[in-house]
Amino acid sequence: MSNSAESTSSRPLRVAIVGAGPAGVYAADILTKSNEVKDGDFQVSIDLFEAYPAPYGLIRYGVAPDHPRIKGIVNALHKVLDRGDIRFLGNVTYGRDLTLHDFRAFYDAVIFSTGAIKDADLDIPGIGLEGSFGGADFVSWYDGHPDVPRDWPLEAKEIAVIGNGNVALDVARMLVKHADELLVTEIPDNVYRALKDSPVTDVHVFGRRGPAQVKFTPLELRELSHAKDVDIVLYPEDFEFDEASDEAIRSNNQIRTMVNTLTNWLVEEHAEA
Ligand SMILES: Cc1cc2nc3c(=O)[nH]c(=O)nc-3n(C[C@H](O)[C@H](O)[C@H](O)COP(=O)(O)OP(=O)(O)OC[C@H]3O[C@@H](n4cnc5c(N)ncnc54)[C@H](O)[C@@H]3O)c2cc1C
Repeated sequence: MSNSAESTSSRPLRVAIVGAGPAGVYAADILTKSNEVKDGDFQVSIDLFEAYPAPYGLIRYGVAPDHPRIKGIVNALHKVLDRGDIRFLGNVTYGRDLTLHDFRAFYDAVIFSTGAIKDADLDIPGIGLEGSFGGADFVSWYDGHPDVPRDWPLEAKEIAVIGNGNVALDVARMLVKHADELLVTEIPDNVYRALKDSPVTDVHVFGRRGPAQVKFTPLELRELSHAKDVDIVLYPEDFEFDEASDEAIRSNNQIRTMVNTLTNWLVEEHAEA
């Protein structure tokens, strides 16, 4: 957007960035790095707006606590903000505190990097029944998000996780892991206590298609098998592949790796039985 009445030739280009997750911070970083300094002045001036008091978006409130390497991205983002050439404005919600009209008056360009924090609606009968929760809420709870209640009703012995992406595996892993193993992470106390007291014995992960269509990645899949005292149970009928699945396995290295890993587990499971 370029709508400012004032000419930009005599002053820096003013850019507003909305959302201080990794996308917003990296966009700010790239813009400042491309900044030519003329006569000692910055040619780009950046204001980074964030709805929450603190930055880093889903790295803080989405990535599971037992993924310290990914959580560590916060350090890289912090270095960018710590340089002092980007103005961070927390506690400002676009659409409530500021509108596009305000931005048009004060900025030459706006970058929206507000992420995708909400759960997708699922058209499944009973989705609204008691005991059914969206993954984003549960993840926000275990990551200590300030907008989510601190208590979570972890009362079920059997839990169904619907979906076959990395978030499904994060949720399944957090549910089955010994809570004590999480003490080395930044897990909030209330979450540790709730997971420690959780009566869960079985977590069922459901996908609408088969192993050749899963969306999680090999690292996250293998991580699940490293969880202490956890048996992974697979069903042979899920490994009867149709033509499209065979083609996907042939042509895609990642799918092949996943299917091979799952098939090996299936073989081991039946060899032990
Ligand atoms: C549960 C979960 C687990 C994940 N685990 C991993 C992982 O292990 N490894 C990995 O690489 N990736 C992981 N990801 C993905 C990773 O978190 C995202 O790809 C990344 O955070 C996206 O960055 P972003 O900046 O686009 O959005 P976000 O991180 O969502 O940041 C958007 C920011 O915009 C702010 N915002 C939103 N609306 C407004 C508004 N109206 N006004 C002002 N500010 C606003 C938000 O508060 C937020 O700070 C995970 C994601 C989820 C959901």
